[in-house]
Amino acid sequence: MSTTLDPCLRPIAQGRSTRSRSRQDPQPRPSSSSSSSSSPADSDEDLEYYRFKRQKTENVCPFSDPSRPNPCVDHAAPRSRKDSIMKHLNKVKQDPDPQHPKNDPIWASRLVRYFLTPRPKKYDNQKRKRGNQVSQHEYYVKRTKIQSEKGPEMKAKYLAGEIAKEEYAKVLIGNARREFLAEERVKDRLQLQFAADNDRAVQEKLEEKLRELRQTNVTGDDDEIRDLEAIRDKLTACESMLGNHRQEISLQSAKVVQFFSFPGFLQSEEQYLSFHSMHFPTKPSVKAYFEFAVLLLPPCDWDGQVRSQSTMRALKRTLHMYLEGEKDGLDPEEMEPLTSVMAIFNSSCDLLKEEDRRVDNLSLNQRQKWMDEQDDLWRTERAKFQKKSRFYARPAIEQYKLIDEFADMYREMKRAEIDTEVARQHAQQATSG
Ligand SMILES: [Zn+2]
Repeated sequence: MSTTLDPCLRPIAQGRSTRSRSRQDPQPRPSSSSSSSSSPADSDEDLEYYRFKRQKTENVCPFSDPSRPNPCVDHAAPRSRKDSIMKHLNKVKQDPDPQHPKNDPIWASRLVRYFLTPRPKKYDNQKRKRGNQVSQHEYYVKRTKIQSEKGPEMKAKYLAGEIAKEEYAKVLIGNARREFLAEERVKDRLQLQFAADNDRAVQEKLEEKLRELRQTNVTGDDDEIRDLEAIRDKLTACESMLGNHRQEISLQSAKVVQFFSFPGFLQSEEQYLSFHSMHFPTKPSVKAYFEFAVLLLPPCDWDGQVRSQSTMRALKRTLHMYLEGEKDGLDPEEMEPLTSVMAIFNSSCDLLKEEDRRVDNLSLNQRQKWMDEQDDLWRTERAKFQKKSRFYARPAIEQYKLIDEFADMYREMKRAEIDTEVARQHAQQATSG
């Protein structure tokens, strides 16, 4: 399980902690989506297993709850392996003691059932998928609840300027969130427009003041007039320079995108992956694992231990963060394809681990042959990816040059912004005096 969560999901994940729940109530409270014990989802032990697993249920004896009159102390501290609790429970089931009475209702709880269930057969996608649908529904229900409970208060805070718009957007979900973000974009545009109008107003004031001075001064070579004209010209020049820089930056952005993509991408409405015929695998397999790896592993690590447990975890984290980002603001049904990507990755990892275990029992020769096959698979996927990805299509030195050009433009634009601000302040002082 990945432990990295999107910061906006964290409060929910914490609220889900089964440990705190089981401390008060050994029978996990049924959630809204699985309240009926006769529903097929509930009767499915494997699904139950994944539910607890997902909730990162701590491996402690369910009888160790301190609220019990005589709590179990032996297995009160969390164990790293779930099956040590299973062994312990099986032992006291056979041989009950005062801490684990024979007729205690806890024996019938889901939590005990979970500990007594061995890990289900792996890579059962259908089950994982259903498990995910349940959790996605729970997520949606919880987020909706948070939105209606905290929404109005957060909105008031946001309007009062006490919190940032990102903070407020965090409590919103689905349509409400999309609408809010769209409104904000319009506001930002209006703000820019307002600044531009303000500049024009300053210019107009300058012209007006110049007209006045010319009328009252018939000789026409007054210092004051010349100063004011200089201020006006300076402001005009700065503003036009800044406009040019902004124009250039926008052209340069297009250049960068085109540099790293196939012709036509920028003009298309497509996303990078699909436009470049790169797709996440749709079926779990060992090969699929390598297909994921080229997308998720930084190329500088490609020569390392691609199949190791730690790499697997790192890939999972990267994929999780990516998918969470993509899910942002989607409705549950729109999330489904993204969720299945994660399920296929997980199942592919399981298959790979299974292979590793199988190979452990083979002869040295057979093992070497298998290793070579794996290396071939990895090499093939790398080569395929390098052909498709435009990031490999250019010499490094050209890539750096492009970034340098971009950085220079940005720095110049920043300087032009400061110059313009100074010129504007001079103009304002000159006209208000
Ligand atoms: Zn115990």
